[in-house]
Amino acid sequence: MSHETVYAIASGKGGVGKTTTTVNLGTALAEAGERVAIVDADLGMANLAGFVSLTPDSITLYDVLAGDASIDDATYRLADNIVAVPSGTSLDEYAETSPEGLREVVDELRSQFDYVFLDVGAGISHETVLPLGLADAVLLVSTPEPAAVHDSTKTLELTDRSGGTVAGLVLTRTRPDGDISHEEIADRLEVPLLGTIPEDPAARDSVYAGTPLVVFEPDGPASAAYRRLAADLTGVDVPVPTGGDGSGADDDSTPADSAPDQAGATAESTAADSETDDDTDGRQAAHDDVSSAITEAESDP
Ligand code: ADP
Ligand code: MG
Repeated sequence: MSHETVYAIASGKGGVGKTTTTVNLGTALAEAGERVAIVDADLGMANLAGFVSLTPDSITLYDVLAGDASIDDATYRLADNIVAVPSGTSLDEYAETSPEGLREVVDELRSQFDYVFLDVGAGISHETVLPLGLADAVLLVSTPEPAAVHDSTKTLELTDRSGGTVAGLVLTRTRPDGDISHEEIADRLEVPLLGTIPEDPAARDSVYAGTPLVVFEPDGPASAAYRRLAADLTGVDVPVPTGGDGSGADDDSTPADSAPDQAGATAESTAADSETDDDTDGRQAAHDDVSSAITEAESDP
């Protein structure tokens, strides 16, 4: 398939809804029968930890990046058709990881899953920039808040410099009384408006429940918006519930086959065998590109 299947979910400012977007776009597509992997590329933060049961000994993306485990070992089933790759949260472990290994992780997941979503950290650190260039497309997430919109320009710039492509803007936590139109915000950033996700208290409740919002409150306004976004983005036929009476399309959207375990079973890592001098050079080049992108961004006024 030649269309975009690996998305980086990125933002300039933290706390704008990246993880919520990653989890719910992924789950909406999984419910529609697509095989999905979501990856906590926001290293050091426990973004996905609430959705998978981890013990302190659990294998995470850290172990994969450190070369101590295969990606299959760090893949946890979230629900039918969807797995999560959580990052570790210990700063000690973090110091030993090499973000460059993410390229192999993404390549491997790309070959095993229909869609891969990378939950990228906010800001301009090295591990933030790398995924922007690895993804087929970057989804820029922002709230309508001026500071968040402003910080989005940094992410646009970094994506550009890391050779990535921004698909467009997802505006989250929108309110009907906003004094600037959503289109106008996207116009200012000179990117297409891909979708708007309304403010919905169920979003926070779903996090406490450890359940994706689209499952927790399938017919709610934010869930409907995430399903619509998933459909618009990928062209996949994602049923969008129409009413708030629980009679939405969700009931008949159960995928016929549940493939995650099967997908996981074939996830035997080949990464260790495929390391060639070419790969090493490529990674070094990518590292240099990213480093100079960060330096340029940091020196911006
Ligand atoms: P990020 O990953 O960018 O840091 P999160 O997805 O963790 O952001 O969201 C930050 C907070 O905002 C969380 O408490 C989340 O539940 C809440 N939130 C996200 N989207 C919405 C929404 N549409 N309505 C209300 N609260 C939301
Ligand atoms: Mg997050």
